[in-house]
Amino acid sequence: MPHDETFAKLTRSTFRCRRCGACCRIPDGIVRVSGAEIARIAAFLGMTETEFIERETEISPDRKSLILKSRLNGACAWLTEDNLCRINAVKPERCRTFPLEWTNADSFQICPGLERKDLVRP
Ligand code: SF4
Ligand code: SF4
Repeated sequence: MPHDETFAKLTRSTFRCRRCGACCRIPDGIVRVSGAEIARIAAFLGMTETEFIERETEISPDRKSLILKSRLNGACAWLTEDNLCRINAVKPERCRTFPLEWTNADSFQICPGLERKDLVRP
């Protein structure tokens, strides 16, 4: 299912997040963070931006931006065992907008909330 405007409207009205955390555990998934996002997250954590950048980010594979660090299993470092986001109040836009604003080819295999039967009203 393409991520067009109709899809976005459909998901916005009927999407139900299962709080499974699967979207935060994609092995080769990356979460880019902008300068403004870094400032916001660092302030939330009581860290300086430099501390946050040094401890919690790394260079993206394409070397174009900073991304949040992952654990060895590929899960985002901020994901708790209960599938909660420890920086939920200030999480990056990339996280806040999935899957209502963007999806990719793998999203429908990853996100159980995107099952078509759940998205289409009877
Ligand atoms: S920042 Fe939070 S929402 Fe984003 S990938 Fe990490 S745990 Fe998930
Ligand atoms: S994979 Fe989908 S259902 Fe699971 S937490 Fe992420 S958005 Fe919610």
